[in-house]
This record gives sequence, structure tokens and C-alpha cells, in this order.
Amino acid sequence: MKTNLLNFDLNNLTQYFSEIGEKPFRAKQVMRWMHQSGVADFDEMTDLAKSLRSKLNENACVIVPDLITSQQSSDGTRKWLLDVGTGNGVETVFIPEAERGTLCISSQVGCALECTFCSTGRQGFNRNLTAAEIIGQLWWANKAMGVTPKNERVISNVVMMGMGEPLANFDNVVTALNMMLDDHGYGLSRRRVTVSTSGMVPQMDRLKEVMPVALAVSLHASNDMIRNEIVPLNKKYPLKELMAACRRYLEKAPRDFVTFEYVMLDGINDKAQHAHQLSELVRDVPCKFNLIPFNPFTNSGYNRSTNESIRIFRDILQQAGFVVTVRKTRGDDIDAACGQLAGQVKDKTRRQQKWQQIVAAERRS
Ligand code: SAH
Ligand code: SF4
Repeated sequence: MKTNLLNFDLNNLTQYFSEIGEKPFRAKQVMRWMHQSGVADFDEMTDLAKSLRSKLNENACVIVPDLITSQQSSDGTRKWLLDVGTGNGVETVFIPEAERGTLCISSQVGCALECTFCSTGRQGFNRNLTAAEIIGQLWWANKAMGVTPKNERVISNVVMMGMGEPLANFDNVVTALNMMLDDHGYGLSRRRVTVSTSGMVPQMDRLKEVMPVALAVSLHASNDMIRNEIVPLNKKYPLKELMAACRRYLEKAPRDFVTFEYVMLDGINDKAQHAHQLSELVRDVPCKFNLIPFNPFTNSGYNRSTNESIRIFRDILQQAGFVVTVRKTRGDDIDAACGQLAGQVKDKTRRQQKWQQIVAAERRS
């Protein structure tokens, strides 16, 4: 079987070239062709010797996931569905803003962590994406949009906030992050690449050591009782441990704060008392808040908090001295908002049925 070079960061690629008897600088050349020029055919890599090209053609390949669909929202948000085999798709979303362009990348097909308000979580876990499939999302988006006429980079930021829990696919995510940051890859700054986690404490500690990029933590609750319900992982790593892990992470983080994401669920976690409790909870962690109005999906069983509750919640946090943003819902018309990414996960039907039963039972009680 041929080796897919898109799975390799610069270190791995350099090792590969030394194994096939080639000089280390070849790795940099090939890296730039693949990622900066979007070239997947060795014969187009014109500054490689013919003999090397034929050696690569024999032993290696550059395989990016196939593009299934590409959609554009009326607000400029774009979404790509990529084929990752056996009927599975992953989604990638680009969100243009005045000052930056953010690409939201998926790390897994489905997710095993089963947060109750998340459409990906409801599908269950199918499999980890390979490093090539993770970076392939940036590869496609970069190819589709390239640079502006003024030669400015269109994608300035990457957030790992698509489908899946990035820290549950640690090694492949770190390899992909390496490619994003590498000057011969996408050359993004550590501060502009964010990993979002639902709170996998040991992996947060590992990330801090090997690849301290910006960190977002999906908090979503002000106490363990509520969080155990809506983010089941909390039973394993409760809030006290999570807060301590955030503090440890900040020792090495490229930014001096953690972003806490907080999905606003009507009547569940959005009352004034929760906002007060939240500001106590995070007292010792330098942080900013990002309130995410819940994005509904079929049979979710939840409602989005009212604008009034969100405003009151935000004001309480601001009065307590925190920087708070309320996330604008983007790409509504193409189902590209947070938590709505679905792809085409195989066991979707079974999961959907299971959840429909649970929601129906809750309604009855
Ligand atoms: N697994 C990671 C990253 C992917 S989810 C994590 O949980 O952090 C990115 C963000 O969207 C998380 O904060 C997640 O909790 C939030 N989210 C999930 N479903 C949502 C929904 N239906 N509405 C709004 N936000 C949602
Ligand atoms: Fe997984 Fe994140 Fe969704 Fe939770 S919110 S189920 S961790 S993708």
C-alpha cells in the first residue's frame, strides 16, 4: 500500500525521506507543494528531480478526502461536506468576519461523549479522523478560497469546534496542528489556532506539554449537578478538577486566558443564580466567556434561552468583571451553526430512535 504523505507533519516527512534515501530539505519542498500550493500530484512538483518523482509515484500518494458538497450561506458562511469513506461525511465550516476568517474543523466522525444538547453527540461515535482527513479540511478550504487579491490569507484562524472531541483523537489532532503551525505548512500562529474540549483533563495536560495552542473549554454549567446531566464526561472529571487543569494549562498557553463556552439552554442553565454561581466557580481562572445560544435540531428536547435571559446572564458576568461575548448564529440557512454538524454517520438512525424515545419519556413524566 502506498504511504499517504498528507498524514505526515514535517518531522514524520523528514524521517520518511531519510528512509527512502533522500535529503531532509525534500520534506520541506513537498510540504510546501502539498499545503501551500494545494498540489496532490507529484508530477506537478516541478522542482523535484524526475527520478524522485517517479520514486514517490511508486511508493507514496497525497490523498485528500473527496468533496461531496459545498454550500454557501446568505451571510457568507461556507460549508463543505467531505467523504471519509463507507457512507460517512465530515463537515467543515468557514466563517468570514471583518477582521478574520475562521475555519471550524472536525476531528472525529460522531463523538462518544454524548453531551445531551449536541447533534454530533447524539449520533454516537463512529471513528477518529486520520491526520490527513483533519488537515484535508483546511486543504480544501484553502484551495477553494486561497488568498485575497491583495495576497492576504483568507483563513487566519482555525478552531477545532466541528464534529468530535479533538482531545479524544489526540495524536492525529496534534500531527494536524503541527501542519497548521508549520511555516512550510499553513504558517498559522499558535494564538490563532484553538482546540475546544469538553474537559478531558489528562489530555489537556498533555496538550499543554506538546502543543500549547489556544484553549476553549465547553463549560455549559455552573455546578456539577447540572453539568453531570448535560456533559456526562463531568462525572469523570468534575468541575474542581477541570478548573485546576485550566489553571495548569495557562502556564504554557499562548494566550493568557481560557475561553469558556457556555450553551444557553432555556430553563436549564440560564438563570441569574447560575450566572452568579459561574462567576464564583471560575474566580481563580483567567478567562473570557462565550455564550452560545442553543442551536436547535430535530428532537433535541431543548429550547434556546430567550434574548432577555441571555442579556441578563451576560450582564451579571460583565458586572462581575468578565469579558463576555454572545456568539452570533451564522450559517443558519445551511445548518452550519455550532452543534448542528451532522455529516452522514452510519448509526444515526439507531441513535436518533434511542433519543426520540428518551425525549418522549421525559415529556410524559
Ligand atoms: N467536542 C468539543 C468541540 C466540538 S463542539 C467540545 O465539546 O468542546 C463546539 C462547541 O459547540 C462546544 O462548546 C459545544 O458544546 C457546542 N455545541 C454543541 N451542540 C450545540 C448546540 N446544539 N447549540 C450550541 N452549541 C452547541
Ligand atoms: Fe462531543 Fe463536543 Fe458534542 Fe460533547 S459537545 S458530544 S464533546 S462534540
